[in-house]
Amino acid sequence: MKIHEYQAKELLAAEGAAVPPGKVVKSVEEALAAFDSFGGSAVVLKAQVHAGGRGKGTFIGSGADFGGVKYLTSREKVGSVAKTMLAFPLQTKQTGPEGQKVSTLLVQKAADIAKEYYLGMVLDRASGLPVMMASSEGGVDIEEVAAHSPEKILKEPVSPELGLAPFQARKLAFELGFKGDQVTQAEGIMRALSKVFLAKDCSIAEINPLVVTKEGCVEALDAKMVFDENALFRHPEIAELRDETEEDPAELRAARSGLSFVRMDGSIGCLVNGAGLAMSTMDIIKYHGGEPANFLDVGGGASKDQVTEAFRILLSDSRVKAVLVNIFGGIMKCDTIAQAILAAFKEVGFHVPLVVRLEGTNVEAGRNLLADSGLDIVTASGMADAAQKVVDAARKKN
Ligand code: GDP
Ligand code: MG
Repeated sequence: MKIHEYQAKELLAAEGAAVPPGKVVKSVEEALAAFDSFGGSAVVLKAQVHAGGRGKGTFIGSGADFGGVKYLTSREKVGSVAKTMLAFPLQTKQTGPEGQKVSTLLVQKAADIAKEYYLGMVLDRASGLPVMMASSEGGVDIEEVAAHSPEKILKEPVSPELGLAPFQARKLAFELGFKGDQVTQAEGIMRALSKVFLAKDCSIAEINPLVVTKEGCVEALDAKMVFDENALFRHPEIAELRDETEEDPAELRAARSGLSFVRMDGSIGCLVNGAGLAMSTMDIIKYHGGEPANFLDVGGGASKDQVTEAFRILLSDSRVKAVLVNIFGGIMKCDTIAQAILAAFKEVGFHVPLVVRLEGTNVEAGRNLLADSGLDIVTASGMADAAQKVVDAARKKN
């Protein structure tokens, strides 16, 4: 689960990290009042969306020459920029082509930046530990640094029990080139980041950029956090920060029925049980020249209610030209699954071809049920046959 920048900064500030003063607003009037409250000094207007890369984004259809982060010095400009930000969808490299509607802005007192750094924490699967990463090459191009000069990213493994040790924070601060009092300030922010990451079960927590201002203060200028949803039950205060308007409606709906669903750009809807089978189904569709419209894993089972809801979600996407059901009956028997598919098929009312591949326990009985149903369902035997059939069916529909 993702949260907004302003929420992440509040969590960091609660652990003692220095963040610039800011106000969260939802209208042009509130934005102007926030500007006034900073005594007319320069502010940065920051669109609050879950996607990153806001600074380099564009407001679709606005003709504006700024992205989701804009440095401003006049009241008039704050008014006009806030108006644009709240009116047009913001597109960044993480939002997809339709962009994301902005309903909240952070009006932040502008920092006078001397240098930008990167600070982040993730789980390192290789060592099985959280790792703190830091770079003196922070800012909007950190992905480039990671891709082309990975040696410029420092890494420090963090004990899940003890957190980032003081000597580790000091080492990173020195390696980043901090001097004098800034060493202590940087250490404080690193410890806050480590504390929030561990205490709240984050999967990613990032401060990019961490800056030194011209006055010599070290501050977290941007913050992004992602939380492990499996641990959310331990953190009701974090679960409350969820902003469902930022999430894909189909993905939200699927999650409510216990389905793992991720939307993609193709034309073939997939309904599969088990993540591994879902991945290989997408692979084989691509191998046969098709494009999956989604990843959908109904989990170990495939009850009638789940299959019905999954069909509804798939069919509500107008780009879906054919649907492939690829189910391995392990604990669930294939005849039970076939009955669920038949019932769901009748209830939902299909308007695109449906290809079904069943394998596993009671497969013959399952296939017979589908074949004898008299319904317009294409049965397939084997992954390749299923992929070929569904790709052909989708092509004919186009
Ligand atoms: P992101 O593009 O979504 O990562 O948004 P950021 O909050 O990281 O802002 C992008 C860039 O805008 C930063 O790397 C800074 O260079 C710049 N920026 C953000 N806040 C300020 C500020 O207070 N003062 C100045 N001078 N630049 C800022
Ligand atoms: Mg940033």
